[in-house]
Amino acid sequence: MYQIIINTEQCDGCEECVNICPSSVLVLVDGKCTVQNVDDCAGCMSCVEACPNQLVTVDEI
Ligand code: SF4
Ligand code: SF4
Repeated sequence: MYQIIINTEQCDGCEECVNICPSSVLVLVDGKCTVQNVDDCAGCMSCVEACPNQLVTVDEI
């Protein structure tokens, strides 16, 4: 189980994290990255690495 925290205030909606996630965990809502189904997160950290603004944090819980 993973916890995903996104600093949506600074998110510019570039969609890099959304597109790279192999499990479709993240979606864009109103131009901001949003966690859609955290249960499918595999903790691969691709979204963390993909965000050009370092806005995504993934922690095992
Ligand atoms: S850690 Fe991997 S599986 Fe989880 S949301 Fe990010 S890209 Fe998707
Ligand atoms: S990669 Fe970063 S800036 Fe781009 S949509 Fe995701 S959280 Fe927002």
